[in-house]
Amino acid sequence: MKSGASSRKSRAVRGILIMGTVALLTCLVVSLVLVLILQDTYRKQVSSEFQSQHVAAGNSLNRILNADGEELSRLAVQLLRSERADIPSELEKGREFSSFDELWYVDAELGVLKNGEPQEDLPVELFLTLLMKLEYNESGVYIGITPSALRWPLGQNAMTAVPVGDGAFVFIPLDLEALFATDVFSYQVSLGECLVVTKVGEIIAWSEDSFIVDMGAESLQQAVLDYSDGGRTSKQAWHNYTYDVTRGASGYVTILTRDGYRMQISYCPLRSAQKLYFISCYKDNLLEKRLQPLLFGSVLACSIIIVFMIVALGYVWATAKNTNLTVERLAYEDTVTGGKNLNYFREFAFNVMLQSRETPFVIYRFDIANFRYINESYGHQRADKVLVSCIENFSKRFSEKELCVRMDADQFLALMINDSLLDKRFDEYNNDVNADARGNNIKYPVRFKCGIYPVKKQDHDIDVMIDHANVARKTVGSDSRNLRAVYSEHIVDDMRKVDHIESRQQKALAENEFKVWLQPKWDIYANRITGAEALVRWERADGTVVQPGQFIPVFENNGFIEQLDFYTLEAVCRRMHELIEEGVAPLPVSVNQSRLLLHSPDYVENVEKLIKQYSVPAGAIELEITESVFDNERDEMIGIIRRLKLLGVRLSMDDFGAGYSSLKMLTEVPFDVIKIDGQFFAESARNDKERLILTKIVEMVDSLGMEVVCEGVESEEQVNFLQRIGCRKVQGYYFSRPVSEPDFIRRYYKNGSEN
Ligand code: C2E
Ligand code: CA
Ligand code: CA
Repeated sequence: MKSGASSRKSRAVRGILIMGTVALLTCLVVSLVLVLILQDTYRKQVSSEFQSQHVAAGNSLNRILNADGEELSRLAVQLLRSERADIPSELEKGREFSSFDELWYVDAELGVLKNGEPQEDLPVELFLTLLMKLEYNESGVYIGITPSALRWPLGQNAMTAVPVGDGAFVFIPLDLEALFATDVFSYQVSLGECLVVTKVGEIIAWSEDSFIVDMGAESLQQAVLDYSDGGRTSKQAWHNYTYDVTRGASGYVTILTRDGYRMQISYCPLRSAQKLYFISCYKDNLLEKRLQPLLFGSVLACSIIIVFMIVALGYVWATAKNTNLTVERLAYEDTVTGGKNLNYFREFAFNVMLQSRETPFVIYRFDIANFRYINESYGHQRADKVLVSCIENFSKRFSEKELCVRMDADQFLALMINDSLLDKRFDEYNNDVNADARGNNIKYPVRFKCGIYPVKKQDHDIDVMIDHANVARKTVGSDSRNLRAVYSEHIVDDMRKVDHIESRQQKALAENEFKVWLQPKWDIYANRITGAEALVRWERADGTVVQPGQFIPVFENNGFIEQLDFYTLEAVCRRMHELIEEGVAPLPVSVNQSRLLLHSPDYVENVEKLIKQYSVPAGAIELEITESVFDNERDEMIGIIRRLKLLGVRLSMDDFGAGYSSLKMLTEVPFDVIKIDGQFFAESARNDKERLILTKIVEMVDSLGMEVVCEGVESEEQVNFLQRIGCRKVQGYYFSRPVSEPDFIRRYYKNGSEN
């Protein structure tokens, strides 16, 4: 037995939850990674942008300084051509037409002049000595560090100087800081700062608010030392820097700072100037501020995605739960009755049997006898109500440990507790269903055909138990009086035999293996044959003869009896016709007619056709039907019998006394003959009381104008008794067993004993 659907369901929900959580986590990780990648990309982008801006700014600085140098050279040429006395005024003019704010000049005679004005207190000798020592390039220009002694008068750490000849010099202080304030450097300054340093790192000039200078560092090296985290990356970076600078190369390095940031230092040599480097650097704490909106945006986007995911997950979960419920309904409910179905039954039975190991259970596999008839006569809707009532009434009579479900069509399955009251409870339940049906104007009785399987302790497979119950059910014929069969091993054997018979029935009919045998009916007063009963035999190809007891119930069950009975009837009529053709007066023959045949549509018309086709004389054919035919639809049956009689067919009631014979039937149904059941006769003849009953029955039937035929007469004694009580006709082994048709003809026609 399989375990529950609830675990299947929770497995599905768990699956969805796990999937959802995984998706959510994935989403989180992806967004995080995305943010990190974004951040990193942005950093790299800023870094390379900073570097390229740095290179551009460096070039601009070179150009500006070169331009200054050239302008100063032109002025020097001008001064060289001038008279010494005109120099101050030339200087004045030169400053006016140039871009210089300050223009300095020195020579031994005129002394130090600033913008043409003599600077009396400045030492001319010192100025000349220092200016002479500077390294002028091939164009005769010096751009570089202001010698320290001149820094104070000039007010700047850098200067440009050009010799004018005769030991004179013209020079200007370079206001790099003012230069850094111009647009050319705005990008660098906005992000960090600009510096001009010597190759050994001495800081010559800086842009406004330089944090390197603000923190009191005098050299770049000291700044880096003070500021870096001292780690390997930083050390390596500084090493790379110094290596590049000694080679005069440009580039950038990144130093990790003490407070957990990165500081990028971009550097390039000032080609115009001697031994000076242009530096720009920035710390990415500033970057963080810029990144904040980006980060905020990403986090927001992530959050939105996560919220969306949670909502979606909730939705999926709710839908899945709903779907589960629907699936469960579909999987466990029967749409016709609103009850449960086979799937549910399996799990229910499994659980109940597991919980109540000591309780004896029984499985009923049942259907409604002739449900087809209810369906056809009362319509599907009303027939369905019967099915619903079967489910609804069950719970009234049975406990919570018991369950009844519909499998399909009119097939039901019930698990019940196998106690002494079971039969009673089941009968009451059947009565309840019938009461409902009657209330619904369904006159046809609802009779349950049950296969029963008492569950054993060692049983564990529900399906096998259901199969066993079903095997038992199949042995019950719709017309059987006992509609319950309990499973047993020999039932399986019987089933095999049934299967064997069923697999051959059609072929046997086609190949005329079914033969009519005849048993004489004897007039014991005249001591002669008065007719015969046709009894079918199955003469197999191998010569064996199968008795009707073995196959008639099977055919009654599977409906094949309808074909066989009509076949027999036709065979009898045909033979009669042949005998008449041969000039022989045929004996009347009775033929057994099953209940199914009588119910078949056009039955009377078909009989009429036969009678006409074979010109059967009136009274030559007698139809034997059993009482049970009248169990239901009595009026309809009486109608059929009347119509048959109009065709000149005689009717006999077979097996009278075998069941619960009703004497009323004798008055209501226009039978010609009552056949007393052989078994009933044998039992009745034993004691006086019963003999009396039999006597009275014979009398009564006689006085009602019907004939009596007593079956199963086996002894002379019985014959004498019947003679005494006025029973004229008998049938039994005492006179003859059923014999084959050729035998019968030989015996009763050919030797002239037919009269
Ligand atoms: P049934 O209609 O009651 O037929 C009488 C049965 O009693 C026959 O059994 C017959 O051989 C048997 N019988 C006759 N005299 C004696 C006797 O003195 N002692 C004993 N013990 N039995 C006697 P059979 O031929 O085996 O048929 C059994 C049943 O099968 C029949 O009972 C009938 O219900 C059914 N049957 C036979 N042929 C047909 C048929 O063509 N159609 C239908 N629907 N049923 C048939
Ligand atoms: Ca019979
Ligand atoms: Ca009989």
